[in-house]
Amino acid sequence: MAEIIDGKRAGEDVAAKVAKASAELVDRTGVKPGLAVVIVGEDPASQVYVASKSRKARECGFHSVQHTLAEDTPEAELLALIDTLNADAAIHGILVQLPLPAHIDSGKVIQAISPDKDVDGFHFINVGKLGAGVLDTAFVPCTPAGSMLLIERIHGRDLSGLNAVVVGRSNIVGKPMANLLLAANATVTIAHSRTKDLPALCRTADILVAAVGRPEMVKGDWVKEGATVVDVGINRIPAPEKGEGKSRLVGDVEFASAAQRAGAITPVPGGVGPMTIAMLMANTLVSACRSAGVEGPK
Ligand code: NDP
Repeated sequence: MAEIIDGKRAGEDVAAKVAKASAELVDRTGVKPGLAVVIVGEDPASQVYVASKSRKARECGFHSVQHTLAEDTPEAELLALIDTLNADAAIHGILVQLPLPAHIDSGKVIQAISPDKDVDGFHFINVGKLGAGVLDTAFVPCTPAGSMLLIERIHGRDLSGLNAVVVGRSNIVGKPMANLLLAANATVTIAHSRTKDLPALCRTADILVAAVGRPEMVKGDWVKEGATVVDVGINRIPAPEKGEGKSRLVGDVEFASAAQRAGAITPVPGGVGPMTIAMLMANTLVSACRSAGVEGPK
């Protein structure tokens, strides 16, 4: 039976370190990390995510600001708010919760955020730095960054000689994940919906990352004996056994069968999810340290 990688605990460890470093930064320089979270509209899932990000920022001792805009907010108004936040010296990180309403061009909004405050790591400058392996001044997207810390717990920082397969090629998870694994010296393959014989490819992986968005797609017999499995997926499926209309969360990996073969595996929930929010706090702290001209925590 695989070791279960405890992302909740790892996320708490990261947040505790961030809170300590944040307090030290305030003491040394008077600079308090500031995070602005912007949400447009009333999507219930987004509301929950945004509330938990703002709460975690406060727990880390940050200056935490939330801007809640109406669903029909014009794009120009949102862009004007981003400009204001870009110019606000008390704000070191700007996060615009996605998805945005259809009348707003998300790409344009993301590119309007100053790369120096782009704690989600979605601005092309930060995407390019990650692609070029310039990690010391980049902001790395939070979910892959958190996944890497979990992998580090098992394998250390150097993945030389290990084969990694990332299933999923999104700009938010799959591609940055692959770049991080490559930067750590793994031999990386990216798979997607057009990949031939995915089960056989997955069985070559010493490190298998699933970021697909399809409930329990990766089966136990796709997993190499002893592999490390990181399940990024968050899927809500009906759970009639819990009562009528009830649901539960599952990952992109069939946990029970995969855990029989893996050496280590992340659960859903309690794996990658808690790391994502912790890494957002870490990125905001790093941004504040850069703006104060001091070295951030390693
Ligand atoms: P996207 O929908 O943007 O990308 C999904 C990727 O999976 C695509 O590259 C797609 O391929 C690939 N794919 C889809 N179907 C198959 C298939 N049958 N076989 C192989 N590949 C397939 O999703 P995201 O990357 O944004 O998210 C992935 C999952 O991670 C979701 O469950 C999401 O909820 C979760 N997530 C979790 C986070 C966390 O904090 N833990 C944060 C962000 C996301 P193609 O490109 O060819 O279409």
